[in-house]
Amino acid sequence: MFEDVPTRRDDKLCFELKEKMCEMMRLTGRVTMRAHHTLCCFCGYGRTKYPDSLLAKIIEEMQRNPDFEIRTVAGLDDLCYSCPVCINNRCVGADGKMFPADMKKDIDVLHRLRLISGAVLPAGELFGMVAEKIPHVVDICGDNQVAEDGTLFTTCSPTDGHYEEALAQRFWE
Ligand code: SF4
Ligand code: SF4
Repeated sequence: MFEDVPTRRDDKLCFELKEKMCEMMRLTGRVTMRAHHTLCCFCGYGRTKYPDSLLAKIIEEMQRNPDFEIRTVAGLDDLCYSCPVCINNRCVGADGKMFPADMKKDIDVLHRLRLISGAVLPAGELFGMVAEKIPHVVDICGDNQVAEDGTLFTTCSPTDGHYEEALAQRFWE
């Protein structure tokens, strides 16, 4: 999905790309999602404060269409396609620190699920596997990386309990 996208994306273009991605998802019944974004769907659901995010749209689509397929990958996905910090097919979030951190999360999730990058599964089955094999995210998303200036690098809040709240609600069944 990345071939025709300009290097720099303003908010308007990102919004249009997001709409396009949602339309493609509905038309094809499939989405490509990086492995750790599957966990982010749980955190987002637990938070219930990002109803317009693409993560919420993916959950909606899964609930609307039980055969909805998710292709799980390590690396950029269809969500990154509409993200302003995806530049030259690379995530430059947090001054470039997110790129290696997120790749590590993807690989950890694939390892925990015993999947290879590119595996395609029905969404409900994938979410069920996550629920069974990954009860908490702190060991995957808890950053143990040290930035160049010696400070700990943290991009998220894996201990805020939202992931576990979403697991308890079993929204994918
Ligand atoms: S804690 Fe991890 S799974 Fe949850 S939103 Fe942050 S990066 Fe995603
Ligand atoms: S911040 Fe990076 S990993 Fe997250 S959606 Fe944007 S480009 Fe993708």
